[in-house]
Amino acid sequence: MSRRRYISTEISSDPKIYKLIKRGGFFAGMLYTWMIPHADDDATLPCDIEELILKVIPGLRDISVEEVESALTIMTDLGLIIWNKEREELRFPEIPYRLDDHWRLQDSEWKMLRLIVISRDGLVCGICGGEVAPDDVHIDHIQPVSRGGSNDLDNLQVTHSVCNKRKGNREL
Ligand SMILES: [Zn+2]
Repeated sequence: MSRRRYISTEISSDPKIYKLIKRGGFFAGMLYTWMIPHADDDATLPCDIEELILKVIPGLRDISVEEVESALTIMTDLGLIIWNKEREELRFPEIPYRLDDHWRLQDSEWKMLRLIVISRDGLVCGICGGEVAPDDVHIDHIQPVSRGGSNDLDNLQVTHSVCNKRKGNREL
């Protein structure tokens, strides 16, 4: 109960993402997040869908072209992406960013990543395994950013603030 309430509070801080997840499920939210670091410097991404699947979600073999197409359609409706079908290209109109080795996140992107990690992990600390109070959630980079860790979802986990601080810069 407390988890559900927490998540909906977080989501409502970014209405478009809330709508995306509500309409397309968490897969659509994750796909959006995963696509961003694959975009070129001009914020575009080739969007032949099979190519997109291979590039962005190669590990998700049971995801179909139709599911991706449906998620992209919802993102388009919401203005999160501009989908130029003739040029087979997607553009992210609202995300000014530069691709570094470690791409920098806007606040709204971080909020969304945080939300997705909490949805995936629940309120369970990835370091000690204990339950985490909603107002104590920290999102930890498993491999620290200072050591080359990325913002990819598989490098992020929910932790207690205390466990996160205790870990510091060490890689567990
Ligand atoms: Zn902990």
